[in-house]
Amino acid sequence: MRPSLALVLATALAVTTLLTATEAAAGVKVVTTVPSLAALARDVGGDRVELTALVLPTQDAHFVDAKPSLVLRLNKADLLIAVGADLEVGWLPALQTQARNPRILSSGAGYLECAGHVRLRDQPSGPVDRSQGDVHPTGNPHYLFDPRAAADCARAIAAALARVDPRNAATYRANLDRFLTRLDAARTRWEKRLAPYRGAPVITYHKSLTYLVDWLGLVEVATLEPKPGIPPTARHVAHVIRTGKERGVKVVLQEAYYPDKTGSLVAQRLGARVVRIPGGADVGRGQSYLAHLDELVDRLAEGFR
Ligand SMILES: [Zn+2]
Repeated sequence: MRPSLALVLATALAVTTLLTATEAAAGVKVVTTVPSLAALARDVGGDRVELTALVLPTQDAHFVDAKPSLVLRLNKADLLIAVGADLEVGWLPALQTQARNPRILSSGAGYLECAGHVRLRDQPSGPVDRSQGDVHPTGNPHYLFDPRAAADCARAIAAALARVDPRNAATYRANLDRFLTRLDAARTRWEKRLAPYRGAPVITYHKSLTYLVDWLGLVEVATLEPKPGIPPTARHVAHVIRTGKERGVKVVLQEAYYPDKTGSLVAQRLGARVVRIPGGADVGRGQSYLAHLDELVDRLAEGFR
């Protein structure tokens, strides 16, 4: 029996619809380590990318559980974007090996380490050893609080997306240009708003706000950690309080995922405020990089007020 023309046409139509649906769903699978990188990849990739961040904004990216669910996400990824400069050295290499996906190995075309595209601060001048604490030996990886560094990352992300998905290179380029224009305008607005606090002395928790402090012209006079990655000790905290008094510190700045106790104690002794800043963009709730920095700037402005 020959199929009727109507059936042939209906089948052809169904196949076409199926192909279109598959094509539309087949975005580039991008996995980032920290959520702020996912937010940047969203701005540059637009609706061409499917995004997953391995770290939550409430998590400290130095220490992440290498759970099997994270391995699965990496197994299917077209592009893995990391902060680099050894921020994720304690957990990411194991995941990359377990994922059985050569694309996202450090040597693969689907691997991007943004640190290679940013001017890193705190590069040790001599050899690094354990006596200095958990120093990041290739430079300070906490650059994502600085919109100037975020612009460098966005450029690197656009180039990496064009590499793994050349057909949409022009789209990524256009998205990047649009994002950089908006970021530039926002940066001027943020700088203007916080300009009255230039030169203000602050105490931070970890050496993770160096770029933020530098961008806004604040002065970091002490960290609550005696050495990077080493929790505050009573002796060191006494020293921080002395320094804070001498320098007239009115704000203790720390990411929300660090323990509260020491910062609150120090602030109380100084008559200062603790400003808890978000660890990264809340991409799970759709927060963009610009909205994340808006929130950060709001908290700083309230803290210095
Ligand atoms: Zn660190």
